[in-house]
Amino acid sequence: MTKKGRILTGDRPTGKMHLGHYVGSLANRVRLQSTYDCFFIVADLHTLTTKPEREHIANLAQNIHDCVLDYLSVGIDPDQATIFLQSGVPETYELNLIFENLVSVARMERIPSLKDMARAANMEDSMPFGLLGYPILQAADILLPRGNLVPVGKDNESHVEITREIARRFNNLYGDVFPIPDVLVGDVPSLIGIDGQAKMSKSLNNAIFLSDTAEEVTQKVRGMFTDPNRVRADIPGRVEGNPVFIYHDAFNPNVDEINDLKERYLLGKVGDVEVKKKLTIAINNFLEPIRERRAQYQSQPGLVEDVLVAGTERARAEAQKTMAAVREAMGMYRLPVKTL
Ligand code: ATP
Ligand code: MG
Repeated sequence: MTKKGRILTGDRPTGKMHLGHYVGSLANRVRLQSTYDCFFIVADLHTLTTKPEREHIANLAQNIHDCVLDYLSVGIDPDQATIFLQSGVPETYELNLIFENLVSVARMERIPSLKDMARAANMEDSMPFGLLGYPILQAADILLPRGNLVPVGKDNESHVEITREIARRFNNLYGDVFPIPDVLVGDVPSLIGIDGQAKMSKSLNNAIFLSDTAEEVTQKVRGMFTDPNRVRADIPGRVEGNPVFIYHDAFNPNVDEINDLKERYLLGKVGDVEVKKKLTIAINNFLEPIRERRAQYQSQPGLVEDVLVAGTERARAEAQKTMAAVREAMGMYRLPVKTL
């Protein structure tokens, strides 16, 4: 079957993946993997932008493994999609340097999500040059396999815009090498965390992980933030923007049950306990097949590494083709030595 185009997207291996990743990006990946040629990147080099210390680098091996396992668990099929490791494709460094010269510092400084990331990493006053360049490195990731569709969460939309600008600028300067990729934001563009304060994030301790046990889910939902003004069950509550209902809408397929709960909540005729009990059931039903797939993959030692090695070889072959086209288009001088 001819595929509709190429997808490139991925994640930093900074920890276990959560429900926010699912609704923001993973669901689209699973849905589109049979109709698009998919490249899913485990972006280990991107972790250096906020976590350059050895202790974080030492965690990468485990985090990379967990990230691939998360992909497989949600139903990404390694026979259909290419799952690969960013640092295993050294052409990434090369294209990144070329792209760094196609965008202004002022443009990069206007990207709001980078300031958020710097703040979250306590780097507001010491933002590394590499963090400012985070979306440029992403542009290299997206354009090395010449991806034309990028499924990501809302916080990444402005980064894909940089990729589009760089691709246009490259093509204008040197000739048509790159597609101008489209962004595809998930059904829930930015899922709020269980704390009700910020988007669900690996690093904010407000996540329900795809690998959580049923008991962990029960406890996390029990402690979830709801309507802070509702101190008793017989007080009418707020449904809109209330995390428990945002999660019901995202993970409970029983629309009648949700509507009934919302109606009664607005009237002060249902307690948080019932709303949360039903949410726990819905989330655990949603996670159960993911847990089963995880257990199956985990029972095959070496499989995750094999998937990653095969995927990285394929991604590298594509990257080499693209870099040959890039050098050709730019007319870069090449030393007349075979090995260079
Ligand atoms: P970190 O805290 O290390 O930044 P993160 O949880 O924000 O981790 P990322 O690896 O930065 O996760 O994001 C990977 C992908 O998942 C991106 O496309 C991002 O937009 C999406 N994503 C992350 N969190 C959410 C969320 N809460 N809702 C929707 N999409 C999300
Ligand atoms: Mg993030």
